[in-house]
Amino acid sequence: MKPAQQFKTQATVMTHDLHHRELIHTALSKYEAVRDQSKAAYQDWQAARQAAAEAKWEAVNHLDEYLVEFSNKLEARGTKVHWASTGLQAKEIILGIIREKKARSIVKSKAMTSEEIHLNEALAEEGFEVVESDLGEFIVQLRKEPPYHIVFPAMHLTRGEISELFARELGSAPTQSPEELTMIARRVLRQKYIRADIGFTGANFAVAETGMISITENEGNARLTAALPKVMISLLGIEKVVPRLEDLALLLPMLSTIGTGQPLTCYNSFYGGPRQPGEPDGPDEFHVVLLDNRRTELLADGEQRDALHCIRCGGCLNVCPIFRNVGGHTYHTTYSGPIGSVITPHLRGLQEWKHLSFASSLCGACTETCPVKINLHHHLLHNRRNAARQKPSMFEKVAFKLFAFVINRPSLYRSSKRAGRLLQIFHPLVKGTRFDPAYAWTKTRDLPPIARQTFKEYWRQRS
Ligand code: SF4
Repeated sequence: MKPAQQFKTQATVMTHDLHHRELIHTALSKYEAVRDQSKAAYQDWQAARQAAAEAKWEAVNHLDEYLVEFSNKLEARGTKVHWASTGLQAKEIILGIIREKKARSIVKSKAMTSEEIHLNEALAEEGFEVVESDLGEFIVQLRKEPPYHIVFPAMHLTRGEISELFARELGSAPTQSPEELTMIARRVLRQKYIRADIGFTGANFAVAETGMISITENEGNARLTAALPKVMISLLGIEKVVPRLEDLALLLPMLSTIGTGQPLTCYNSFYGGPRQPGEPDGPDEFHVVLLDNRRTELLADGEQRDALHCIRCGGCLNVCPIFRNVGGHTYHTTYSGPIGSVITPHLRGLQEWKHLSFASSLCGACTETCPVKINLHHHLLHNRRNAARQKPSMFEKVAFKLFAFVINRPSLYRSSKRAGRLLQIFHPLVKGTRFDPAYAWTKTRDLPPIARQTFKEYWRQRS
């Protein structure tokens, strides 16, 4: 099935699933309350957004310089930096390191870039044991499904469903207690960390000034992933770079404020190389893989380049009325919601993924919430325009030509209104059938009756 058809079919199913909708609405209404509490601690939230946007603007518009600075500083401390133009290259680099180390087991902390290149599938195909250590990711991995949300991978599941899953997959006793469920996962994961040959992470930021990656988290799983195995691999998109360490004084709290509603996440760690002499823990070898995967094409697009400012906080997903109703899996993309709808056509092809730009009410809630001020709903319009320019729809071409023809001839326009009113009398008879000329439109919407009197007629009569 084509992505557009798949989206439409699943969106129809999900919007009728009231249980799912209630679950997501409950989860997100709590989120809004805590987010707003955290935002209130800022003296001037709008000024903070502006400063964050400027820091990302500087990084993205001088990416060539900051990436080289970041890479040189990392290498100076013994890190091996790899550059991957495509997802395939990134997979080959990572698989190459794992094979060379004769590793068998890999423990991973959350990395959307690894979802983007389908790393887990590639590792599993070669027989490696891969375990996700973030609790939400661990749960969806057991269910053999992709993350539902970029920050809350398992937000679509109830405690009961997780308990049943653990009982089935891990043999644990059923429980409704979140603490007990966490302890069950923890007991399993602790053993995996100890045995893992490779620790794999993503990164939230890459600091050019110090040559360090920054990882922000709440569970401490990324710390264990980085500290225990002998080899650490981090895969990050090239847009993660920020110029200075002090930029994180703003970006880290803003990420957690909009991401989870916390003033700051529990653990914030920096990794700048393998274990140095005298250090008690850390990997013997540290590899950083910098992933392009068509990000430079987005960089070349002056109009939409600011989509690379995204810090993956997930805020735009949380406030999007479409995401809240159709859910994360319906998109069938790594990045869902408004930011996914903006960047996926760039990463995977405009024509095949243009339908996502129409999965929006253009209410602008996403743009309003974005901590780095990405003009998301305008970019959705840009994608629509670019798709129409690239491959104009024959139907639309004819329809607009006809419209221009009629609107430019006042007498014809006047008669067309009368004809429209006449047609509408018959519309209830054909509504929702294949004879309905507005079938797709009226299936889910009302077609309001055309007024008996036009404004012009009314005005003439009035005067
Ligand atoms: S586009 Fe903005 S709101 Fe959406 S995930 Fe990225 S940073 Fe967050």
